[in-house]
Amino acid sequence: MSITINYEKCCWKDGKCTSCSCGGACVGCAEACPVGAITRKELVEIDNSKCVNCGACVNACKHDALSLA
Ligand code: SF4
Ligand code: SF4
Repeated sequence: MSITINYEKCCWKDGKCTSCSCGGACVGCAEACPVGAITRKELVEIDNSKCVNCGACVNACKHDALSLA
């Protein structure tokens, strides 16, 4: 299993949150990850070598942009 991100759905673009429905800060996936596998740079980046497939980020994302399969 591994995490994949749908960049069409993800509201973090060009280093900032572009959706007010995210509360303006898009504080979902990266903060939920217990192992620091997710970072928000220009786009959201996932380090699958750190990921332990817990699914916390999938549950945290308000935009259904992450999937674990
Ligand atoms: S599945 Fe868990 S460990 Fe993997 S990126 Fe998401 S929150 Fe982090
Ligand atoms: S919580 Fe979802 S929409 Fe927000 S940055 Fe993470 S993947 Fe993108």
